[in-house]
Amino acid sequence: MAITSRVALTVIVVLSVAPLAIAEIAEPGDPRVDGVRHHEAPRYPKCGLDGTVAVHVEVASDGTVSTASAISDPQILLLTPWAEEAAAKWVFVPSSSKWSRSMTLTFIFEGTRSSANESGVITRYENPLTLHVELAEPTIARLPAQENGDLAPRCEIHGEDLILEIVPIRYGVQRGVIIGSPEEVVAREYWDALETRFPHGSEYVRFGCVVGSEKRAEVMICQSCREARRTWFETHPGYSPPD
Ligand SMILES: [Zn+2]
Repeated sequence: MAITSRVALTVIVVLSVAPLAIAEIAEPGDPRVDGVRHHEAPRYPKCGLDGTVAVHVEVASDGTVSTASAISDPQILLLTPWAEEAAAKWVFVPSSSKWSRSMTLTFIFEGTRSSANESGVITRYENPLTLHVELAEPTIARLPAQENGDLAPRCEIHGEDLILEIVPIRYGVQRGVIIGSPEEVVAREYWDALETRFPHGSEYVRFGCVVGSEKRAEVMICQSCREARRTWFETHPGYSPPD
């Protein structure tokens, strides 16, 4: 990406943020040491790519960024515009000078890692003016938060409160059942029992053909459904459902 032409009058002002006062309270990696009030994280959607983008910013006296333009481009699709977009939203301490300040922010995109507890863009600030960005991909598919949290969902068959459990995910194409085959009778019996005897007894969930980062998923389970399901399988030994 081309370096934007600097305005001849631009004055590079050394940050005049009382360094001693801050040094007493700031931890290493504290953005306040660099006069940063807000460091916006860049977008970093799925398939975290890695690369480093340095962005030149002009900071107005009120602390907002007036221009943000990349001065290094890793030639990785979209990393540069994401870094520029985020840099434009950083906020610095105001200065008494009417001149803009010129600085370089560094965004280090570190790729993807699997995590059971975190998901989305994770950032770590490093002095000076450097933001490490990582994409945490969940290994557990979480259930959406319940809107009516005080109304515990219940099993419509057994009347029991459902409890949250984490079960394995199975990916892949479902096996078909051929109409008229000996399996069809058992398969119909299983699907009927699934609806009427153990709708909340699953030991795993199906997530379709596209394999995601998630290996396990949260599900709501009824213990009586679980027992009914296990009893059903005991009376149908060797049967493997196509669900
Ligand atoms: Zn139940």
